[in-house]
Amino acid sequence: MSPRPLLNRRMDGMGTTIFAEMSALAAATGAINLGQGFPDTDGPESVREAAVRALRDGRGNQYPPGPGVPELRTAIADHQARRYGLSLDPDTEVLVTAGATEAIAAALLALVEPGDEVIALEPYYDSYAASIALAGGVRVPVTLRPADGRFRLDLDELRAAVTPRTRLLLINTPHNPTGTVLSRAELAEIAALAVERDLLVLTDEVYEHLVFPDADGGHLPLAAFPGMRERTLTISSAGKTFSFTGWKVGWITGAPALVTAVRTVKQYLTYVSAGPFQYAVAEALALPDDYFDGLRADLLAKRDLLADGLAEAGFTVYRPAGTYFVTTDVRPLGESDGLAFCRSLPERAGVVAVPNAVFYDDRAAGAPFVRFAFCKRVEVLTEAIGRLKGLAS
Ligand code: PMP
Ligand code: GLN
Repeated sequence: MSPRPLLNRRMDGMGTTIFAEMSALAAATGAINLGQGFPDTDGPESVREAAVRALRDGRGNQYPPGPGVPELRTAIADHQARRYGLSLDPDTEVLVTAGATEAIAAALLALVEPGDEVIALEPYYDSYAASIALAGGVRVPVTLRPADGRFRLDLDELRAAVTPRTRLLLINTPHNPTGTVLSRAELAEIAALAVERDLLVLTDEVYEHLVFPDADGGHLPLAAFPGMRERTLTISSAGKTFSFTGWKVGWITGAPALVTAVRTVKQYLTYVSAGPFQYAVAEALALPDDYFDGLRADLLAKRDLLADGLAEAGFTVYRPAGTYFVTTDVRPLGESDGLAFCRSLPERAGVVAVPNAVFYDDRAAGAPFVRFAFCKRVEVLTEAIGRLKGLAS
C-alpha cells in the first residue's frame, strides 16, 4: 500500500511561494531584493504612532469584534464614498480581514463549490490559485498578452471562457504582476458580461492608489459600474496603500449577503487579527489627499528610474500604468527561461527578481517574463540598475 501524501492533493504543485523562495535567495546571497513586493521604507510616521498609541491605550489588545473595529469599518466606508461615490453600510457591507490574502481565501471558500469554474486573469497572483484549489474550484485562466507596450485583456477570450459552470470572475486591477490598469471601456465590458451571464465578481484592487497618469481615468472600481453593486466583492489592503505590509490589515466590501457569506468563513480562518493596527489604519484612511498624491508621485519617479534603467540594461520593458512592479522580457539578453534567469541572477548580478512564469498555467506563455519591484529607495534602485547593466557585457 503506498502511503497517502501528507499534503492535501488540492495543494499539489504549490510548494513554496515564489516570494518566499526569492526573498530567501536574496537573504542567502546578499543580493538586492527587487523580487517580493514590499517597500523598504515604512509608511507615514503619524500612522505608526497611531498604532503605538492604540497599543499603549489598550485598544485592540484583546479580540476586536469579528467584522473589524467600528472605527476602521467606518473609515473604509468613508474612503469608498469620498473616492468613488460608493455608499456602504459599515455594519453590513464592510469586513476587515488579515490582509487582502485572507479576504481572497475567505471569499473563494465561501462562494465556490467543488467543480465551479473561476475565471482569473493570467498571469494571476499566486494565492488565487491556491484558494481556488482549496475550495475545489476549477481555475480558468484568461491570458493578458503583450501588445503596444502593455499586457492586454482580450475581451472576446474572456467572453468565450464563460460557461454554464462559471461561478465567479476574479479580476485584479491594477494588475500584479503586469502593471496593467483596466480601462473604463474594458471594465464596462466586464461588467456587462457579468450582468448578462449573472456572474459573481471578486475584484482585487489592492493597488488602487498606485495608478499613474498614463492610465485612462485613474483607478475605477468595478463595483461602481451599472449592475455590479449586488454581485461584486471588492478587496483592498493597507499593506500597499500605507506601506505597512507586515501589519496585514485588509478588507472586503460588497452587498450584505455577499459580505455575510465571506464573514461566515472568515470567522473560522482567523476570527480576527491585528487589533491595534486596525485603529491606526482607520486614521491612515482619513489622511488628506496630499498623502495619496505623494505616494503616487514618489512611485512614479521610481517607476521611470527602474524602467529606464532596465531598458538601458537590455531588457524589453512593459512600463506599468499601476502597481509597483515592472514586467520585462529577457529575450533581448539572449535568455528564454525567466525562472532559470531569476535563479541565477543573484550570482550573476547581485539582484533578485521574480519569474512571471509561476503565475501562468501556460508556463510557456509566461516563460520570458520577469518582474522587478520598484518600491525601494532611489539609491537601492540605482545600485541595482548599475549591476544589471553588467549583464549584457
Ligand atoms: N492581491 C495582490 C494582487 C497582491 O499583490 C497582494 C500582495 N502583495 C495581495 C493581494 C495580498 O495582500 P496582503 O499583503 O494585504 O495580504
Ligand atoms: N504581493 C507581494 C508580491 O506580489 C508579495 C506578497 C507575498 O509575499 N505573499 O510580491
